[in-house]
Amino acid sequence: MGRAPATVAAMSASLRLKAARSPIHGRGLFAVDAVPRRMKLGELGGVLRRLAEARAAMRGRRRIHLVELDRRWGLDCTRGNLFRHLNHSCAANCYLRVVARRVEIYSRGAIPAGAELTVDYRATPHPGGMACRCGAPRCRGRL
Ligand SMILES: [Zn+2]
Repeated sequence: MGRAPATVAAMSASLRLKAARSPIHGRGLFAVDAVPRRMKLGELGGVLRRLAEARAAMRGRRRIHLVELDRRWGLDCTRGNLFRHLNHSCAANCYLRVVARRVEIYSRGAIPAGAELTVDYRATPHPGGMACRCGAPRCRGRL
């Protein structure tokens, strides 16, 4: 049950992002510059862990920093890069793509400068049960 090596925390070199207070939850991730549509923003940094071990570590935390990659592995991004601040929105402007146990982040449409970047946690396996405060008109209320 050894720990796998940390994944590379790659970010797009030209894109400026910042973590700041979010109206959705805690700190969020914001685009400093406008982001074009369908752009790869970077990869979520973190440590590959056995899923059972990672879930146990997240229990009771106010914020879950875990992306479940498959049935055995999760990416624990507690100490990952800036992308760990990505909040959930039911009308997300970004999405995650899991490729060979790495988590890539892409924009959906064009995103204006200053906007908070969000992903739909429901699109990736996620332990549910938290109230959603994303404010989207079609918010599902829970995530
Ligand atoms: Zn919502």
